[in-house]
Amino acid sequence: MTRSIKPLVAGNWKMNGLRAELAIAAEVARGYGAELRHAVDLAICPPATLHFAMTAALIGSRIATGGQDCSAQSSGAFTGEISAGMLSDAGATYAIVGHSERRTLHGETNATVKAKAEAAQKALLVPIVCVGETQAEREAGKALAVVKKQIRGSVPEGSTAATLVVAYEPVWAIGTGLTPTAADVAEMHAAIRAELGKALGKAAASGVRLLYGGSVKPSNAAELMNVAHVDGALVGGASLKAEDFLAIAKACA
Ligand code: PEP
Repeated sequence: MTRSIKPLVAGNWKMNGLRAELAIAAEVARGYGAELRHAVDLAICPPATLHFAMTAALIGSRIATGGQDCSAQSSGAFTGEISAGMLSDAGATYAIVGHSERRTLHGETNATVKAKAEAAQKALLVPIVCVGETQAEREAGKALAVVKKQIRGSVPEGSTAATLVVAYEPVWAIGTGLTPTAADVAEMHAAIRAELGKALGKAAASGVRLLYGGSVKPSNAAELMNVAHVDGALVGGASLKAEDFLAIAKACA
């Protein structure tokens, strides 16, 4: 944790959720009482089809919503794409960009991710820029170098604490039940903060929220959230259960 930063716990629903699952968001809202609201910010990133309805369902709860991706373009002949402006119009506050599933399955490069993050900022959304090494890269001792390069290539110049969130998500920890050691997370988050300092200046970098993501559960959240420079979590699977998502938020608080 960075004491001066209010943590953020963001749920990434991925390609899960029909209208019936809006009840999960409503249950999270019921459990997000005054004390928790004071201590930790919450966001849910639903599939695009649910975005508008979820934002409406969460009115008054102070739970933000976010897209899971956005186009680098603002409008036009890009069939199937969703612009940052459209997400904003549907009530979004955040847009995840550069999730490893996008980088791997859709061939997104650092340059693509940066263009998407810039488009998000232009639409006044806060991009949650994801970075993280593969298992092979960690085993080869390249994790720090890979992630620093992703930071240099994916983060828009001029970003500030108010306009950027970074999520460190080791690819091998996503959806696998595996997590890095607290020492490894500490080393990586300190390196990310330092790299952001070089790119954005120390003052801006010191306030950017650095989330950890990858198999965060109620049982490991407290240990991970106690690591220096971990300012919250990006949660996949566990965000689909209101009870687990709230337990992670409480561990953050
Ligand atoms: C994710 O996909 O961003 C993620 C962190 O997934 P999980 O929590 O399921 O590992």
